[in-house]
Amino acid sequence: MSLFVPLTTPNGYQYDQPRGLFINNEFVPSSTGQVIEAVDPATALPIATVYAASADDVDKAVQAAYKALRDPSWKQLPGTERGALMARLADLMERDRALLATIDAWDNGKPYQVAYNDDLGEAISTVRYYSGWADKTFGQTISTTHTKFAYTLRQPIGVVGQIIPWNYPLSMALWKLGPALACGNTVVIKAAEQTPLSILVLARLIKEAGFPAGVVNVINGYGREAGAALVQHKLVDKVAFTGSTGTAREIMKMAAGTLKNITLETGGKSPLIVFKDSDLDQAVKWSHFGIMSNQGQICTATSRIFVHQDILDTFLQKFKETLTQTSKIGHQWDETTYQGPQVTRAQYDRILSYIELGKQEGATVVAGGGAFVPASKEHANGYFVQPTVFTNVTDSMRIYREEIFGPVVVIRSFATEEEVIRYANDSEYGLGAAVFTKDIERAHRVAAEIEAGMVWINSSQDCDPRVPFGGVKQSGIGRELGEAGLEAYTQVKAVHVNLGSRL
Ligand code: NAD
Repeated sequence: MSLFVPLTTPNGYQYDQPRGLFINNEFVPSSTGQVIEAVDPATALPIATVYAASADDVDKAVQAAYKALRDPSWKQLPGTERGALMARLADLMERDRALLATIDAWDNGKPYQVAYNDDLGEAISTVRYYSGWADKTFGQTISTTHTKFAYTLRQPIGVVGQIIPWNYPLSMALWKLGPALACGNTVVIKAAEQTPLSILVLARLIKEAGFPAGVVNVINGYGREAGAALVQHKLVDKVAFTGSTGTAREIMKMAAGTLKNITLETGGKSPLIVFKDSDLDQAVKWSHFGIMSNQGQICTATSRIFVHQDILDTFLQKFKETLTQTSKIGHQWDETTYQGPQVTRAQYDRILSYIELGKQEGATVVAGGGAFVPASKEHANGYFVQPTVFTNVTDSMRIYREEIFGPVVVIRSFATEEEVIRYANDSEYGLGAAVFTKDIERAHRVAAEIEAGMVWINSSQDCDPRVPFGGVKQSGIGRELGEAGLEAYTQVKAVHVNLGSRL
């Protein structure tokens, strides 16, 4: 198998898709010849195959990162110049934005416009934001006694293993690469096996931007093989992971073997609360977006909606109208598509089984309730699901408690603020939460009471490179983005100085 394959995308781009593992700034085949097949979820047809790393390949990538960390071309590069390399990468991504968005739309199933505007917008702004931090991470000077003082250095953690999911392939990659590179670490990043293509094109841009060999190594590979090998490798100092809570538990156990520093971003079942005094049209607009955008494949999806009992019927009526008017299902290249196919057959089956489970548990389906079969023959095997709304849910139902990771929402009524805070916090998760009200006192009171890493007031899903992102409880450990995101990638060294030797 060659290391590049010429592809023509459904929207007419022609490009050479890299297929290798990107180690030391070169594409190389895997040692076993093992591959991953990328599939178009709208048609269920294969796009291309790429090499999948074995544990031996992971070792080569880690060795490259280990060497690069100690090489003067990176170690002694002033922060300002590191930042300049990152800014150049942002410019190159901007130059190739349409191609990168095309590949993610094709491989992931999300509408092209969404990939172009949202995913690429976020990926580029994140690397640009962190390029500015590269020369602004300082230590402190600490006065101690008359003859002594200390200072701190903020140094890179070292070789970082990064493992990312498939729902926002490039923005997840840049959320992790941005702060790691700004702080001078070296990286081995493993993409999700469901979306292996765009990160290899990004790898080419990393080389073009001028990063020294071995600073960023990009591998595809299966979680249990390549992911596990990366987490357990002795020369990896830190693991940063985004994905499911179950996998995060495994990673924590594996990382314990070598006492690695870890950051985890995991699942959620985020609440959205609509109080009686809220602007109902706004609440409906955002609550629809909060669960139905990105095919519902959002870790912060506001998948539990709580509506005050006096306005429940009106809210439901408006929510259903919004679904009919907005949630147009279709393929990635149709500009009118709001909801594309789910990423894989496995996710599609999982979501449909949750929908069946909800019916068996006795919840009421008020919209959707099954697969969506497009009229066109070409897309008849695509992984399309109807946006689905359940009401009459109870505390014990699995659709109410578990993360479905698809366009499925439960809506429940409440009577008092106290009751709805109890509902909202009755979850093992604590990622996002949203509150709709015009009462500013109530808005901030509830925001403070909710057990979540992020709260949106009169909004949902706002995300900004300048603002910390992460979860509490079983939604994660540590923060990404913003200044807080730098903490995950630096360690503080204290240097004690004695000026009193002549006394
Ligand atoms: P997953 O946990 O199965 O996979 C995520 C990544 O982990 C992939 O790269 C995979 O190859 C790797 N992996 C799997 N098993 C591994 C192992 N044993 N050791 C090392 N690596 C391993 O998740 P998924 O089901 O593909 O993705 C969906 C989940 O991710 C959802 O639960 C969602 O909530 C979560 N997610 C969270 C965030 C967040 O920021 N909190 C963002 C996106 C997705």
